[in-house]
Parts: sequence; structure tokens; C-alpha cells
Amino acid sequence: DTNTASKPLAVITGAGSGIGAATARTLSALGHPLLLLARRVERIEALALPDTLARSVDVTDAAAVAGAVREGESLYGPADLIVNNAGVMLLGEVAKQQADEWERMFDVNVRGLLHGIRAVLPGMIERGRGTVINVSSVAGRKTYPGHTVYSGSKFAVHGMSESLREEVAGHGIRVITIAPGAVETELLSHTTDEALKADYQAFKDSIEVLAPQDVAAAIGFAYQQPQRVTLRELVLAATAQA
Ligand code: NDP
Repeated sequence: DTNTASKPLAVITGAGSGIGAATARTLSALGHPLLLLARRVERIEALALPDTLARSVDVTDAAAVAGAVREGESLYGPADLIVNNAGVMLLGEVAKQQADEWERMFDVNVRGLLHGIRAVLPGMIERGRGTVINVSSVAGRKTYPGHTVYSGSKFAVHGMSESLREEVAGHGIRVITIAPGAVETELLSHTTDEALKADYQAFKDSIEVLAPQDVAAAIGFAYQQPQRVTLRELVLAATAQA
């Protein structure tokens, strides 16, 4: 595989489905070589995008994330963008939910996101440019019953993103938070509380929720602004979502 693309490398986590896969298609269409990470590498390979390195990486494994980024950069040059998109939503009530589900949400949504940032940020600081896009949620700005721990993990994403933005603004690096409302993806399928899952599904069925491509377009729009412009936060949801 030789680097024929003229655009810089973009890294996307959770790239095999939903918002991550749509973002991979969007950035590939813009001409970027890609490093795509997820545990199910076959889902990434099925996208069949050009100039793409796919690696089976669990974002909770810092060394695996860093190793894949080194490999991607040696193939395609320095990463100019990371989209920290990998995430899990396990709806549950605090009085009943198993603690391992809390840990999984914080591990993937918070620690995993930090691992992605850490893998690219020193290089971005050295080069004096780069963009970090963190996928949060409307649930990272307001709360809902049954979302306590998920919402906590996404409030953490919002808070860390804004603090990081202040930390690296002087290095020419942009930090952008994307906060979607409900999107038609696999996200809900992992919830084990059947009643909460059915309620949320009924809500999703009652309106036309966002498509993954809608969120990918917002990510592409934010990234394509001139480097001197940071869209600090983009909140988007289906018009019908109250
Ligand atoms: P999906 O479930 O389709 O995508 C999530 C992706 O994350 C999967 O491709 C999954 O791949 C990957 N992932 C999960 N755990 C790990 C892990 N430990 N290591 C690496 N990759 C992992 O759902 P969405 O596209 O909806 O979710 C993408 C992001 O958008 C999430 O952060 C979610 O919280 C956020 N979001 C989604 C909304 C929605 O309504 N759908 C609304 C607001 C925000 P694999 O299993 O192969 O590892």
C-alpha cells in the first residue's frame, strides 16, 4: 500500500458501524487516507475504502491504540485528525444496573477517548497543528432517567474536551465536541435492561431520528473549516426530537 493521497491521515475509532462508518466514508470521499479502529475489524474491511489501514483495536487498551497510530502514521504520514467516536450506551437504573456496565461505559467512552487523544496529541503539538473531534451526545449536556452513567460519561467528554481545547489552543490544535441526539445505529442494541430498551426504541420509532450520515456531514463540515476556526461544539438532533 503506497500513499497516493494528498490529504493528511485521519484516525477514526469505532469505525465499523453507525456514525464512525459514515464518517469514514465522508473523510475518504474528501481524499483522506484513514486509520480505522474497532474490535470487529471485518466490519471496517467491509467498507472497502481506498488508502485505509484497518486494525482490530480495543480503545481501552492504550498500547494497542498507540501502536496502531504509529503503524498508520508510518504508512500515511502524521495524523492531522482523530475522531474519537467509539462508545457504548448501556441504559440502566442506578439502583439495579450491574456495576460492570458502569465500568464499561467509563472505560470506553472516557478512558478510551483519552487513549485516542494521547496517541496523536504529542505529534500534533510538535507540528503545531491538528484537530481532535470527540463524539459526545445530547446526553452530555442534559440528563434523562435511565441514562445516569451514560450521561455522566458524556458530560465527562464535554468537560474534558473543553479543558483540552484551552490546554492546546496555543499550539494551533482544534478540539471539537459533536453532540448528536438520537441516531439510527446499533448503539441501543447493547442495553440489557429490556424495559428501558423498549421505551427508547418506541421513542426512536415515533420520530424520524438522524441518520449516521447526518452526523458525519457535521464532522466533515467542522473539520473543513480553516485551521484558525474552531467550531467548539456542534449539537444536532432530529427536528422532531423535543
Ligand atoms: P454503534 O454501536 O454503531 O458504533 C459504536 C462503535 O464503537 C462500534 O463500531 C464499535 O465497534 C465501537 N466500539 C465499542 N466499544 C469499543 C471498544 N472497546 N474499542 C473499540 N471500539 C469500540 O453506535 P453509534 O454509531 O451510534 O455510536 C458512535 C458514537 O456516537 C458513540 O460514542 C455514541 O455514544 C455516540 N452517540 C450516538 C447516538 C445515537 O443515538 N446513536 C447519539 C449521541 C451520541 P466494535 O464493536 O467492533 O468494537
